[in-house]
Amino acid sequence: MDRPRGVVLYSGGLDSLLAARVLKDQGLEIIGFNCILPFVKPDIDPKTLRISLLAGQISLDVEYFRCGKDYLDILRKPRYGYGKHINPCIDCKIYFIRKAAEFMKSIGAEFVATGEVVGQRPMSQLKNTLNLIEKESGIKGRLLRPLSARLLKPTIPEMEGVVNREMLLDFSGRSRKRQMELAGKYGINEFSSPAGGCLLTDRYIAERVRDLFMHHEEISISDIYLLTIGRHFRLSDNAKIIVTRNGLEHDEMVKYRDFSDLFFVPDFKGPSVFVKGLLRDEELALVCRIINRYGRPESGESAITVTDSSGVSRKLIYHGQALEEELDKMRI
Ligand code: SF4
Repeated sequence: MDRPRGVVLYSGGLDSLLAARVLKDQGLEIIGFNCILPFVKPDIDPKTLRISLLAGQISLDVEYFRCGKDYLDILRKPRYGYGKHINPCIDCKIYFIRKAAEFMKSIGAEFVATGEVVGQRPMSQLKNTLNLIEKESGIKGRLLRPLSARLLKPTIPEMEGVVNREMLLDFSGRSRKRQMELAGKYGINEFSSPAGGCLLTDRYIAERVRDLFMHHEEISISDIYLLTIGRHFRLSDNAKIIVTRNGLEHDEMVKYRDFSDLFFVPDFKGPSVFVKGLLRDEELALVCRIINRYGRPESGESAITVTDSSGVSRKLIYHGQALEEELDKMRI
């Protein structure tokens, strides 16, 4: 007979690893479900990500899901607000659990489990917040928190005997002592830090996300990914630019040039520039001066090729370099 299946919302953090491992101990078939934020390289194979290697410690198969444009709507306007920076943790959790629930249904699994622990984190793991997340996630009764289950109401899989409640745990509070002991018992030595380096909790990236939302109605997943690359400057309410810092960034950005409104590449050694929005003539000149500032134009070869979104290119030559004070005022 097939073993009952469950899905664990998996982040690579210790709590989700433990939640999965505790359930595996009961002989259940457990599949991890990981939501990939738009900051991760769109073309990377998730199996090469560190979280995939971490899952190997407990032989956990992981299904990967890339957050789509619907995630950007949540990010722009979270119903339950932001954390310290631009991290909409409650809305984000609800979104992740909803996606995990869709996956659960698609594979005929019985429940979605998370590594949440009652009272561990401010806001998102308070008992009433856990209830709210369950209610909003649309799988009331099928959302299991194995690490704190015995402090919470029994779920349907527990009541139906699919999951043995006696083998679940009663962790609560901010101390990590019991988690660390359990990790030792299971031989889990490596895991992601809490929040897993989520870039929405990084103040510099948060500034860039805010700037993007403030100035642009239409935002794509690649716009969010590109926030992790290069130097960013806001030229006007209508236009921002991304200036590459090295050849690797140039190669990466070239992949997304079709999403730009203008793309600048100097004929000399220097940065390429991705433009989101429309530039006036004086701003075209400014972009060239910025390229001159970070590049090494030599006399006789100071042309810069600029290509618009329809693929039409032309050459521009502007002398002079942008000043540091000018750049500081525009830096995002
Ligand atoms: S830390 Fe980041 S990934 Fe985690 S819930 Fe908050 S916003 Fe979502």
